[in-house]
Amino acid sequence: MSKLKIALQKNGRLSEKSIKLLEECGIKFPNGGGKLITESTNFPLEILFLRDDDIPQYVEQKVADIGIIGENVFAESLKNINSIEKLGFSACRLSLAVSKDVDYQGLSFFNNKRVATSYPNILSGFFRNNDIHTNIEIISGSVEIAPGIGLSDGICDIVSSGSTLLSNGLKEVVKVMDSQAILVANPDLEVNKQQILEKLLFRIRSVRNAKENKYILLNAPDEKLEKIKKILPGMNSPTILPLAQEGWSSLHSVISEDKFWDVIDELKEAGAQGILVVPIEKMIV
Ligand code: ATP
Ligand code: MG
Repeated sequence: MSKLKIALQKNGRLSEKSIKLLEECGIKFPNGGGKLITESTNFPLEILFLRDDDIPQYVEQKVADIGIIGENVFAESLKNINSIEKLGFSACRLSLAVSKDVDYQGLSFFNNKRVATSYPNILSGFFRNNDIHTNIEIISGSVEIAPGIGLSDGICDIVSSGSTLLSNGLKEVVKVMDSQAILVANPDLEVNKQQILEKLLFRIRSVRNAKENKYILLNAPDEKLEKIKKILPGMNSPTILPLAQEGWSSLHSVISEDKFWDVIDELKEAGAQGILVVPIEKMIV
């Protein structure tokens, strides 16, 4: 039976989290020794370790069937590949930045200016949509030093905390796009590979759902249960079990982590006691 081939970044900001995601999906593989290709021992998957910029092309050419890259690399590549799932890690943004001394008033600042970037396709599209004419200087690394050495008037680069910009005397002025890690796929996979991909996607979604949800247990007097049930926006109707203590029950449900913080006070006011919130390892929906 043929295997699905996945391309991961070899060394870089996506590497560790991409590997961790596969591991959380229960996919085992020997990792280490700097090998460029390895095979899972318990799932029909072959893993290729590559530079992230090369992954779109390899997926287009079917050297790999699928891959994990940042949305920024996907958008820049203009390859015929599909983005099939957001993975929720390596969040960052692509932004325009200028020297902190510039009195920046708006996008028209960039008219007839030079902007250095490793993202010429995304950036030229952005300026075109905004009717701004700029000269794009394409450089492949250390973009943030370009204004300081007189190569450009601004830059467009990946930002997360903004500390790199700051330490190079720059300030972020416009966000061009948000980015996070995504799963990309060749649009034309054979049926059996498509089936393996569906299995992998099912596992990825179960892992992500589990992370975003918590299992909640609480105790309450029986007459308060109706009210508490209404507060809990659970997956299904909650499980209610009688406690040894007469007139009391234990209620179990699943709740998304962000909603939990919104309802915690309401739950207590409604009479919930002994509230426990526990992590879920996998959640099959
Ligand atoms: P390669 O050698 O594989 O080409 P690279 O230097 O191009 O690596 P990295 O810096 O490892 O790339 O970044 C890989 C991806 O991680 C980026 O394309 C982006 O999607 C994301 N990323 C980059 N910087 C950050 C950051 N500071 N925080 C979060 N995610 C980031
Ligand atoms: Mg790269």
